Amino acid sequence: MIIHLKSSVSEPQAQALAKETNSICLFTDSGARLVTSSSIKTLPDHLTPHVAEFFVFPSDIQLASMDYQPKQAVSFGELSIGSGDTTLMIAGPCAVESRDQIGLAATFLKNLGVKVLRAGCFKPRTSPYTFQGLGEEGLKLLAEVREKTGLKIITEVKDHTHFDLVADYTDVIQIGAKAMYDTSILRSCGQSKKPVLLKRGFGSTLQELVQSAEFILSAGNPNVILCERGIRTFETKTRFTLDLCGVAYLKQHINLPVVVDPSHAMGYRYGVADLTRAAVAMGVDGLIIETHPNPQNAKSDAAQQLSFSDFETLYYSLEPVAKAVGKKLI
Ligand code: PEP
Ligand code: MN
Repeated sequence: MIIHLKSSVSEPQAQALAKETNSICLFTDSGARLVTSSSIKTLPDHLTPHVAEFFVFPSDIQLASMDYQPKQAVSFGELSIGSGDTTLMIAGPCAVESRDQIGLAATFLKNLGVKVLRAGCFKPRTSPYTFQGLGEEGLKLLAEVREKTGLKIITEVKDHTHFDLVADYTDVIQIGAKAMYDTSILRSCGQSKKPVLLKRGFGSTLQELVQSAEFILSAGNPNVILCERGIRTFETKTRFTLDLCGVAYLKQHINLPVVVDPSHAMGYRYGVADLTRAAVAMGVDGLIIETHPNPQNAKSDAAQQLSFSDFETLYYSLEPVAKAVGKKLI
């Protein structure tokens, strides 16, 4: 249950009521809210005099529910994602590898009109023997290209120990698929106001994805973007299976912007363009596409990253698809 307290309730009073009801107390621009477990279906009698309005939910998808409030756009700088009529292109290499490599990618994307560069510096790899990312050195290279090009930056927090470091450099914090359940990262994100791009764990249900988002929302950060990046199924011919049914569910029931990442879902260059057009045709709020100046020699995800010329061809093919569903690609 979400309870909107009356404006006459003071902060300490709201906190005391939260304690009594085992709920989370959330202070928003429009007033104090208590969020209880969704198992509470009726308003406790003693709260009634303090309550302006309350909402009951069938599950712990509460703050993110479309039944609570309409879709909320997330802004960073002059950009906004989820405002309804745009699809935001986010692109870049899987990882920052060198000054040359990230510089080439940034210049290429900027010249094409892309506004957001995404590249990892702390890479959550499945083997300890592969490239793990450049760490802080990579963050500094991202800061250099942002300065030079004006592109916004998205990069990943892999564990909460370097949360502040990454947050200092990035415009949007990415939580990777493998970290979706990491409550220490989720709570750190909740304490910040930075936008967070939360990727769906590849073995996670939609309920679990949105509940992870609820950790961030209920800790006070309303700026959450969800990302569908493919789930693991019985299929082995492709790396993962892009869950477009899941995207339809999120669009219908969840009030957060939704981004689709066809690159990690497909795992191979050849399917990325078709999946991207399918996602655009669904009217998604954003896309993440991996592109690299020399994909064959990329230090991570080499098989799926697009060459610049393939990315360019894809990029120009999206405009009419977006237009057909009343969206503009930005
Ligand atoms: C990535 O975005 O490069 C990445 C590692 O993705 P995921 O967390 O979805 O596997
Ligand atoms: Mn990758």
